[in-house]
Amino acid sequence: MSASIDKDLIRQLLDGTISDEDVQRLQRMPNKDADRFWTYLEVLQERVPWDDKILMRLNDHLYIVRDKSGNRIVKCDCGHEFGDYRINWKLKSLVRVRKTLDEFKQVYFPEPACPEPGWQEIREFFCPNCVAQLAVEVVPPGYPVVFEMLPDLDRFYREFLGKPLEDESPNWFEDRSQELLEEWGQKVK
Ligand SMILES: [Zn+2]
Repeated sequence: MSASIDKDLIRQLLDGTISDEDVQRLQRMPNKDADRFWTYLEVLQERVPWDDKILMRLNDHLYIVRDKSGNRIVKCDCGHEFGDYRINWKLKSLVRVRKTLDEFKQVYFPEPACPEPGWQEIREFFCPNCVAQLAVEVVPPGYPVVFEMLPDLDRFYREFLGKPLEDESPNWFEDRSQELLEEWGQKVK
Protein backbone atom coordinates (compact mmCIF):
# COMPACT_ATOMS: atom_id res chain seq x y z
CA MET A 1 0.00 0.00 0.00
CA SER A 2 1.67 3.22 -1.10
CA ALA A 3 1.82 6.28 1.09
CA SER A 4 -0.43 8.34 -1.18
CA ILE A 5 -3.12 5.64 -1.35
CA ASP A 6 -2.90 5.32 2.39
CA LYS A 7 -3.41 9.06 2.87
CA ASP A 8 -6.46 8.93 0.67
CA LEU A 9 -7.78 6.01 2.70
CA ILE A 10 -7.29 7.97 5.92
CA ARG A 11 -9.29 10.83 4.35
CA GLN A 12 -12.08 8.39 3.49
CA LEU A 13 -11.92 6.91 6.97
CA LEU A 14 -12.44 10.39 8.48
CA ASP A 15 -15.28 11.16 6.05
CA GLY A 16 -16.97 7.84 6.77
CA THR A 17 -16.90 6.99 3.04
CA ILE A 18 -14.30 4.22 3.25
CA SER A 19 -15.45 0.83 1.90
CA ASP A 20 -15.77 -2.18 4.21
CA GLU A 21 -13.08 -3.91 2.15
CA ASP A 22 -10.60 -1.12 2.70
CA VAL A 23 -11.33 -1.00 6.43
CA GLN A 24 -10.51 -4.70 6.58
CA ARG A 25 -7.37 -4.18 4.53
CA LEU A 26 -6.20 -1.54 7.01
CA GLN A 27 -7.09 -3.71 10.00
CA ARG A 28 -5.46 -6.85 8.63
CA MET A 29 -2.12 -5.41 7.56
CA PRO A 30 0.35 -7.70 9.34
CA ASN A 31 2.65 -4.79 10.03
CA LYS A 32 0.79 -1.56 10.43
CA ASP A 33 2.40 1.28 8.52
CA ALA A 34 4.52 3.07 11.08
CA ASP A 35 3.65 6.44 9.61
CA ARG A 36 -0.08 6.11 9.96
CA PHE A 37 -0.39 8.44 12.94
CA TRP A 38 1.64 11.13 11.14
CA THR A 39 -0.45 10.71 7.99
CA TYR A 40 -3.57 11.01 10.15
CA LEU A 41 -2.26 14.25 11.69
CA GLU A 42 -1.43 15.62 8.22
CA VAL A 43 -4.95 14.90 6.99
CA LEU A 44 -6.45 16.52 10.10
CA GLN A 45 -4.21 19.57 9.68
CA GLU A 46 -5.32 19.98 6.04
CA ARG A 47 -8.92 20.23 7.18
CA VAL A 48 -8.74 22.94 9.82
CA PRO A 49 -8.69 26.63 8.89
CA TRP A 50 -5.82 27.49 11.28
CA ASP A 51 -2.20 26.40 11.36
CA ASP A 52 -1.42 25.75 15.03
CA LYS A 53 0.22 22.35 15.13
CA ILE A 54 -2.20 19.55 16.01
CA LEU A 55 -0.72 17.23 18.65
CA MET A 56 -3.79 15.05 19.18
CA ARG A 57 -7.44 14.95 18.25
CA LEU A 58 -9.84 14.80 21.20
CA ASN A 59 -13.15 14.37 19.37
CA ASP A 60 -14.99 15.38 16.19
CA HIS A 61 -14.34 19.09 16.74
CA LEU A 62 -11.62 19.48 19.38
CA TYR A 63 -7.85 19.20 19.13
CA ILE A 64 -4.90 19.65 21.43
CA VAL A 65 -2.59 22.00 19.56
CA ARG A 66 0.62 23.89 20.21
CA ASP A 67 -0.18 27.57 19.79
CA LYS A 68 2.18 30.29 18.57
CA SER A 69 3.41 30.98 22.12
CA GLY A 70 4.25 27.32 22.76
CA ASN A 71 1.23 26.58 24.95
CA ARG A 72 -0.59 23.30 24.58
CA ILE A 73 -4.22 24.30 24.32
CA VAL A 74 -7.58 22.85 23.29
CA LYS A 75 -8.91 24.36 20.09
CA CYS A 76 -12.16 23.85 18.21
CA ASP A 77 -12.08 23.36 14.45
CA CYS A 78 -13.92 26.72 14.21
CA GLY A 79 -10.87 28.39 15.78
CA HIS A 80 -12.26 28.95 19.29
CA GLU A 81 -9.61 28.36 21.95
CA PHE A 82 -10.48 26.75 25.29
CA GLY A 83 -7.05 27.40 26.82
CA ASP A 84 -4.61 25.12 28.63
CA TYR A 85 -5.35 21.47 27.78
CA ARG A 86 -4.65 20.49 31.41
CA ILE A 87 -7.86 22.26 32.45
CA ASN A 88 -11.07 20.41 31.55
CA TRP A 89 -12.30 22.28 28.44
CA LYS A 90 -15.90 21.55 29.49
CA LEU A 91 -15.53 24.19 32.22
CA LYS A 92 -15.22 26.81 29.46
CA SER A 93 -18.02 25.59 27.23
CA LEU A 94 -21.72 26.36 27.02
CA VAL A 95 -23.71 23.82 29.01
CA ARG A 96 -27.34 22.74 28.81
CA VAL A 97 -28.58 20.54 31.64
CA ARG A 98 -31.70 18.40 31.18
CA LYS A 99 -33.34 17.42 34.48
CA THR A 100 -36.99 16.61 33.87
CA LEU A 101 -38.68 13.69 32.14
CA ASP A 102 -40.04 16.06 29.49
CA GLU A 103 -36.52 17.29 28.80
CA PHE A 104 -35.19 13.72 28.66
CA LYS A 105 -37.96 12.66 26.27
CA GLN A 106 -36.71 15.21 23.72
CA VAL A 107 -33.51 13.18 23.30
CA TYR A 108 -34.47 9.62 24.39
CA PHE A 109 -36.92 7.28 22.72
CA PRO A 110 -38.82 5.26 23.77
CA GLU A 111 -39.67 6.77 27.14
CA PRO A 112 -38.62 3.71 29.24
CA ALA A 113 -35.08 4.32 27.94
CA CYS A 114 -34.98 7.70 29.74
CA PRO A 115 -32.78 8.10 32.80
CA GLU A 116 -34.60 8.49 36.11
CA PRO A 117 -35.30 12.19 36.82
CA GLY A 118 -33.82 13.21 40.16
CA TRP A 119 -31.21 10.47 40.02
CA GLN A 120 -29.59 11.45 36.75
CA GLU A 121 -29.17 14.57 34.67
CA ILE A 122 -28.00 15.02 31.10
CA ARG A 123 -25.32 17.63 30.51
CA GLU A 124 -24.70 18.78 26.96
CA PHE A 125 -21.58 20.79 26.19
CA PHE A 126 -21.30 23.22 23.26
CA CYS A 127 -18.60 25.40 21.69
CA PRO A 128 -19.24 29.05 22.71
CA ASN A 129 -18.32 30.18 19.20
CA CYS A 130 -19.73 27.70 16.63
CA VAL A 131 -22.22 26.02 19.01
CA ALA A 132 -21.22 22.53 17.85
CA GLN A 133 -22.18 19.90 20.39
CA LEU A 134 -18.90 18.67 21.83
CA ALA A 135 -19.87 16.14 24.49
CA VAL A 136 -22.76 14.72 26.48
CA GLU A 137 -22.60 13.17 29.94
CA VAL A 138 -25.32 11.46 31.96
CA VAL A 139 -24.46 11.64 35.66
CA PRO A 140 -26.08 12.02 39.08
CA PRO A 141 -26.89 15.65 39.96
CA GLY A 142 -23.89 17.29 41.66
CA TYR A 143 -21.40 14.88 40.12
CA PRO A 144 -18.15 16.65 39.14
CA VAL A 145 -17.83 17.55 35.45
CA VAL A 146 -16.15 14.54 33.86
CA PHE A 147 -12.66 15.22 32.49
CA GLU A 148 -12.79 12.77 29.61
CA MET A 149 -9.22 12.82 28.42
CA LEU A 150 -5.98 14.16 29.80
CA PRO A 151 -3.38 12.43 27.66
CA ASP A 152 0.26 12.07 28.68
CA LEU A 153 1.42 13.58 25.42
CA ASP A 154 5.13 13.47 26.22
CA ARG A 155 5.00 9.77 26.99
CA PHE A 156 2.82 9.02 23.98
CA TYR A 157 5.17 10.79 21.58
CA ARG A 158 8.36 9.45 23.19
CA GLU A 159 7.41 5.85 23.97
CA PHE A 160 4.73 4.97 21.45
CA LEU A 161 5.67 7.11 18.47
CA GLY A 162 9.43 7.20 19.10
CA LYS A 163 9.55 10.91 18.30
CA PRO A 164 9.66 12.98 21.51
CA LEU A 165 8.09 16.42 21.54
CA GLU A 166 10.67 19.19 21.68
CA ASP A 167 9.07 20.88 24.69
CA GLU A 168 8.88 17.86 27.01
CA SER A 169 8.35 18.68 30.67
CA PRO A 170 7.00 16.81 33.71
CA ASN A 171 4.53 19.68 34.18
CA TRP A 172 2.51 18.86 31.08
CA PHE A 173 0.81 15.82 32.50
CA GLU A 174 -1.23 17.21 35.36
CA ASP A 175 -4.87 18.02 35.87
CA ARG A 176 -5.12 21.76 36.55
CA SER A 177 -8.92 21.99 36.49
CA GLN A 178 -8.97 22.48 40.26
CA GLU A 179 -7.00 25.73 39.89
CA LEU A 180 -9.75 27.22 37.75
CA LEU A 181 -12.44 26.00 40.16
CA GLU A 182 -10.55 27.54 43.09
CA GLU A 183 -10.25 30.82 41.17
CA TRP A 184 -14.02 30.85 40.66
CA GLY A 185 -14.48 29.92 44.33
CA GLN A 186 -12.51 33.02 45.35
CA LYS A 187 -14.73 35.23 43.19
CA VAL A 188 -18.00 34.08 44.73
CA LYS A 189 -16.79 34.42 48.31
ZN1 LIG B 1 -16.31 25.78 17.71
